[in-house]
Amino acid sequence: MKLIRFGSYPQEKPGVELDSGQRKDCSAHFDDWNHDFFANDGLQRLARLIQTEGDALPDVAADVRLGAPIARPGKVLCIGLNYADHAAEAGKEPPEEPILFMKATSTMIGPGDDIHIPRGSEKTDWEIELAVVVGADAHYLASPEEASDYIAGYCISNDVSERSFQLEHCGQWTKGKSCDTFNPLGPYLVTADAAPGVDQLSMTLAVNGQRMQTGNTSTMIFQPNFLVHYLSQFMTLEAGDLINTGTPPGVGMGRKPPQFLRDGDVVELAIEGLGTQRQVCRQAVVTA
Ligand code: ZN
Repeated sequence: MKLIRFGSYPQEKPGVELDSGQRKDCSAHFDDWNHDFFANDGLQRLARLIQTEGDALPDVAADVRLGAPIARPGKVLCIGLNYADHAAEAGKEPPEEPILFMKATSTMIGPGDDIHIPRGSEKTDWEIELAVVVGADAHYLASPEEASDYIAGYCISNDVSERSFQLEHCGQWTKGKSCDTFNPLGPYLVTADAAPGVDQLSMTLAVNGQRMQTGNTSTMIFQPNFLVHYLSQFMTLEAGDLINTGTPPGVGMGRKPPQFLRDGDVVELAIEGLGTQRQVCRQAVVTA
């Protein structure tokens, strides 16, 4: 199944995209694709609904805005330097254990929304990532194999990053990762049973039509099942939480000379089987 959320921010409604490509409104049957939905066998109930009356569900207008495909989660966890080739680009040794940082949940926007370049930013950068959505509360999982039962599905994520805020303002990476609009997500969540083999997905990102990132999840150091198992040793992963699993090479910071996003730039992302995204960059408007 492909789960979508549609309508204007922040009042999106839950829906699905059927195999036919038709989008259907599920809001008469479900509140949202949120923690309660995932934690209470929502995916099974949704599958039954689609099977019994999928075609009869109301249509979603083709031109309606898509939001992030999941409701705002309890947390957004991010893995740093999880691609051997990206670690090399950053001049770092591949990590021995996953590097973990967090991103504000208020960063999440739809796949076609504008990215706001923060006030004072000179170094807003792109990062295409495979995102994992947690499917059930998970704590102290016994093995990576067991972790597959705790993954709801996968989607495209753009882990937008302000490199100066991230690296030149003391402390951790959080400041550079948590600006408003810094996590475009979607267009849909592909459920794990319908997702292609996630260890061999090609991924691309272009800026103004020029290819910047070309990667494949096969060069990930720590794969999704391992990450869910690993992270569950430190905290309860809650159903509906988001994990950004790291970016392949080709970020702006790694280019020679470095290249960053400017007002009017267009960022396009694609991951095999998970759809496409397109964002226009706009200087953030200060409305104080
Ligand atoms: Zn990242």
